Amino acid sequence: MKILVVNCGSSSLKYQLLDMDAKTELAKGLLERIGIEGSELTHEAPGKDKTKLKNYVANHTEGIRLVLDTLVHPAYGVLKSMKEVDAVGHRVVHGGAKFTESALVTEEVMKAIEDCIVFGPLHNPANIAGIRACQELMPGVPQVAVFDTAFHQTMPPESFVYALPYEAYEKHGIRRYGFHGTSHCYVSRRAEEFLNKKGQDFKLITCHLGNGASLAAILNGKCIDTSMGLTPLEGLVMGTRCGSIDPDIVDFLIDKEGFTTDQMKDYMNKQSGILGISGVSSDFRDVEEAAQAGNERAKLAWNIFAHKVRKYIGAYAAIMGGVDAIVFTAGLGENSSSMRLEICKTLGFLGVSIDPEKNKKRGLENDISTDDAKCRVIVIPTNEELMIALDTQEIVAK
Ligand code: AMP
Repeated sequence: MKILVVNCGSSSLKYQLLDMDAKTELAKGLLERIGIEGSELTHEAPGKDKTKLKNYVANHTEGIRLVLDTLVHPAYGVLKSMKEVDAVGHRVVHGGAKFTESALVTEEVMKAIEDCIVFGPLHNPANIAGIRACQELMPGVPQVAVFDTAFHQTMPPESFVYALPYEAYEKHGIRRYGFHGTSHCYVSRRAEEFLNKKGQDFKLITCHLGNGASLAAILNGKCIDTSMGLTPLEGLVMGTRCGSIDPDIVDFLIDKEGFTTDQMKDYMNKQSGILGISGVSSDFRDVEEAAQAGNERAKLAWNIFAHKVRKYIGAYAAIMGGVDAIVFTAGLGENSSSMRLEICKTLGFLGVSIDPEKNKKRGLENDISTDDAKCRVIVIPTNEELMIALDTQEIVAK
């Protein structure tokens, strides 16, 4: 079975074509600047040269058309015909409370995704555009929606209800939903397999630390809490997002700086986080380099990030009554041995003990704990595309 995975952002489109039987990636690519001058498609297929195509792409339908044409192109394509594609899996950012798992796309499902635009105004319209484009250009091919929020739908009310008047939840659906669910789900399943804990009592904390960052507390395979909320702004300090702050700061800054609502949102989502604190960059590599060169604010940003992750790990161990394993994943979690060490340095009381040599290895699933550590700390490279493809395969097979 060949599955195309599509991840549409507001002006970008990522794709990956997977052969599920051979368990191989056939092609992948990224189309950037949709609807903006300078659109560019970067397409890669194993054994072929990387291709870059510069062609103005006005909208997502044109973008999908370009991707499909590329996949069957005689020179850099990998398929004879799009008829070889059995199904398409779409990343959909917000599924609200309606979707507890991935869903075969029907008109009813599309309506429900549209209803969630209010919670995901930047992402859901792009996801919908991607699905509509594939329906138009690949008629009859099953489309599956895989939601970033679905994995967190097992959270109990004490985790997801905000302490606002209860009507806010009942009337407007204001509650915590959580994101990065596909990643937390994938790495938690891999961790269960890696540590041979499937179906057993297992207290796991997954740390998705990339430009966006979130943690999840996973008890016996089910998420019981996560750090992002109604939107991805809540929780940890991130590349450019502030994470949780005192809500009154918003009013204070609107008053003092004269910000409009949009400016305030931009301030918290794009100018804050480690970029805002350090004044150097949103990229942890730059911040670490500056910190090592003596830049105090970069050092502070680095320390605040680690401090906040530790706080969540402690909190999640407390709500689960302990922790058997901690997983690090995503750009920073997978690659930064120094950040992993920094986060874990106070966690000895939980049974965490890092082996510095094992911690140096990169790129593979890897237990970085000392042999006698009671809490295992493992690095698992995330693979959201594979998770989307696996869910799509399962749903189409049903
Ligand atoms: P992601 O959002 O998962 O793509 O992760 C992006 C983040 O991972 C960026 O902030 C990068 O700085 C960080 N990252 C990627 N590689 C490394 C590395 N080798 N060391 C430290 N941080 C890294």
